[in-house]
Amino acid sequence: MFRRLFKKDPQLEEGVKKTRASFFGRIAVVLGRTQISEETWNEVEELLIGADVGVAATEALLDRLRLRFARGEFRTGEDLNVGLQDELVELLRPPKGQLPGLPGPGLNEGLAVVLVIGVNGVGKTTTIAKLGNYWRGQGRRVILAAGDTFRAAGSAQLEVWADRLGLPCIGSQSGADPGSIVFDAISAAKARGLDTVIVDTAGRLHTKTNLMEELRKIRRIVERHEIPSHSLLVLDATTGQNAILQARAFADAAGLDGIVVTKLDGTARGGMVFSIVPELNAPVWFVGTGEQVDDLSEFDPEAFVGALFDSGNGESRDV
Ligand code: GDP
Repeated sequence: MFRRLFKKDPQLEEGVKKTRASFFGRIAVVLGRTQISEETWNEVEELLIGADVGVAATEALLDRLRLRFARGEFRTGEDLNVGLQDELVELLRPPKGQLPGLPGPGLNEGLAVVLVIGVNGVGKTTTIAKLGNYWRGQGRRVILAAGDTFRAAGSAQLEVWADRLGLPCIGSQSGADPGSIVFDAISAAKARGLDTVIVDTAGRLHTKTNLMEELRKIRRIVERHEIPSHSLLVLDATTGQNAILQARAFADAAGLDGIVVTKLDGTARGGMVFSIVPELNAPVWFVGTGEQVDDLSEFDPEAFVGALFDSGNGESRDV
């Protein structure tokens, strides 16, 4: 069996360095040196769980691999390593048949509204700035909207980023109606020929009913303008499996089109990404790998798995 040649993303490789060094790189070492024994399976299981792939996803993965092993597909540890990487890529594939017209990171032609949702502190404001910068780089004309009117500093922080990037921004007073901010942002976009409205939304979960009400209100306003809207959930990788619990609550409130996983550079347990996609049945669109505006990678399952297993620093690859 030949080793796969994955698409490379040096920025992502740097961003997942801790997770690679602590877990996935070690799996490659375990599988590189052994014939497959019960101990091999145990070590791989321990490392996957250590990386925060999650118990359910780890067991499902190992069941599939054991089945393939029993069918004689793998003879050496290296074969198993390739099989594991294939299965990991499959776990991350966007759910099929879901969300017709899903725009993906590039969005479609024409005016679009992106509602960015997530708990305070996950890196939502920074991610909005990164997304604005990214989509502008794709030739889109972006406007930001400070729809989180509960945080006194929320609007100010977003406006600082907007100034720094030279992006227009509809600010807000604390306590203002987020619906009216979104309305103003859409009107400004139409008047100025802009096509991408990125909306910050409130990030406190404890008042879930209000949150749902608020997101629904925002959606109604967008729908009234007959503009496609997309809910993008921001999750902090350093919170591990807790992020999934948060995600479910938001998914219930807002529906989910895509996910951005932030702070992958800050954790050795970046394997949580593998449980997010199957658990939420939604694709990861981007990952954040630092505090700077261009520390954002478009998510590609193969590049992600490749970055976890291979530092790309000249290790040999048989193709
Ligand atoms: P918000 O409260 O969700 O809007 O979060 P902020 O955007 O204010 O970010 C909270 C902190 O996380 C800030 O110190 C950011 O610089 C930091 N941050 C955001 N994204 C990333 C990332 O991908 N990597 C790292 N290391 N830090 C990040």
